[in-house]
Amino acid sequence: MQFSGNKRRKLKLAGDQKNACYPHSLQFYLQPPSENVSLIEFENMAVDRLKLLKVVENLGVSYVKGTEQYQNKLESEIRKLKFSYRENLEDEYEPRRKDHISHFILRLAYCQSEDLRRWFIQQEMDLLRFRFSILPKDKIQSFLKDSHLQFEAISDAEKTHRDQDIIASSSSGGIKLDLELVYKVPFADALDLFRGRKVYLEDGFAYVPSKDIVAIVLNEFRAKLSKALALTTRSLPTVQSDERLQPLLNHLSHSYTGQDYSAQGNSGKISLDQIDSLAAKSFPPCMRHLHRVLRESHHLRHGGRMQYGLFLKGIGLTLEQALHFWKQEFVKGKMDPDKFDKGYSYNIRHSYGKEGKRTDYTPFSCMKIILTNPPGQGDYHGCPFRHSDPELLKQKLQSYKVSPAGISEILDLVKGSHYQVACQKYFEIIHKVDDCGFSLNHPNQFFFESQRMLAGGKDPKKEPGLPETPQPRPGAAGTPKAREAPSALPALSSSMEVDLEGLEAPSALPALNPSMEVDLEGLEAYFSS
Ligand code: SF4
Repeated sequence: MQFSGNKRRKLKLAGDQKNACYPHSLQFYLQPPSENVSLIEFENMAVDRLKLLKVVENLGVSYVKGTEQYQNKLESEIRKLKFSYRENLEDEYEPRRKDHISHFILRLAYCQSEDLRRWFIQQEMDLLRFRFSILPKDKIQSFLKDSHLQFEAISDAEKTHRDQDIIASSSSGGIKLDLELVYKVPFADALDLFRGRKVYLEDGFAYVPSKDIVAIVLNEFRAKLSKALALTTRSLPTVQSDERLQPLLNHLSHSYTGQDYSAQGNSGKISLDQIDSLAAKSFPPCMRHLHRVLRESHHLRHGGRMQYGLFLKGIGLTLEQALHFWKQEFVKGKMDPDKFDKGYSYNIRHSYGKEGKRTDYTPFSCMKIILTNPPGQGDYHGCPFRHSDPELLKQKLQSYKVSPAGISEILDLVKGSHYQVACQKYFEIIHKVDDCGFSLNHPNQFFFESQRMLAGGKDPKKEPGLPETPQPRPGAAGTPKAREAPSALPALSSSMEVDLEGLEAPSALPALNPSMEVDLEGLEAYFSS
């Protein structure tokens, strides 16, 4: 990656050249981008694509893929985020360029672990499946050719010659097959169809009707993307050594693109006496579990204190209340009050921005909880949908009075790695609504949506689209000062337990210098080395 402060190389393309760059509304992303974009544009594109992929995930588990409702909702979200989706639209250069560049940026962010790669590939495949499904038939052949997929539609004469065999071997299940287009595909590329006995084979070629060609296209896409991500992973040490790029990409991969749920505006709105009943009614399972363990064992280890303490701060516990709450519990657990004051209270004040760098830390998002710092033995933090054994999760849900049908729905979602959607389903079940109306991204969002419902019997807020990208708050989240890593503490007693390493700066992305540019040509090395 190269950054260039003054050498600007903007691509100025005439209409025809633009069309040549992106001839279709969908892409196989074979070539990395090679132009300069500002860091701000780089970030904006990446955040928008992340929002898009989250929509794809949510719709994919809320609706049957390919149904009219699914198609309409997805199309409307893609349009809102200004990505390409249909052929034959005017002025499609910018949406297609954005699609191209943002895909490659997220490759860098999402190649970093097996979980991230799997999630990214799944959402990208669903997006491609949607776009392919609305591609006009007369454009399919040229899209295949541009994507280096050498599948030729056979001639009418050839079709007539084989149509009975093709229909007899297809998976039409008695439905009249549309043989308008039939592709001749090398046998090796149609193995899945062959295994399912869904395709006619002759002389090493499969004859695939247009309705099945998408399966082959998606297989190719998955294989190429999976290989590309593996290659990009090898470049991680280089990427991670880039001090400007690395924090941005890290934030993206753990990123959460919504509100930061800091305590602002809520501080002091709950009393300590309310916490037990709020935990039962409105806490998400991760926090409900931490609360129960704290009440029972009067102690939580580092990860649990961080996750739960910042959540409580976000729902409105003041610093004084937090000090009282934690001290009361720890002293019940036989901790010397003096030890608590010397060790733990410093950490609590620190998380409220009253010590050290005075950073006003924000509560953890679901992405952060799910993807970082998994719980070890004796830990109770993390996300139960991600980190609990399915049998334990089942027992926990039973204890929360979730019906057997609800439990099985939740476990199915967990099996498909849709942890946040599983939590959303839990929300719907305990609040007795069919559609919660929001995409869950944050434990504090769960709490506020629950309170909103319980307060006025109102429906939960319908999402006007997607959450806003977090904006740095003056003097706190997102400002350069706030973003600095917590410094080493002033000399502390060796008996004190230092609780700072889990504190992360507020969730806003690093502030970027708008005059900085990213030379995307330099990215190429990360995708092909
Ligand atoms: Fe908590 Fe989010 Fe997991 Fe729900 S999905 S339990 S809110 S981390």
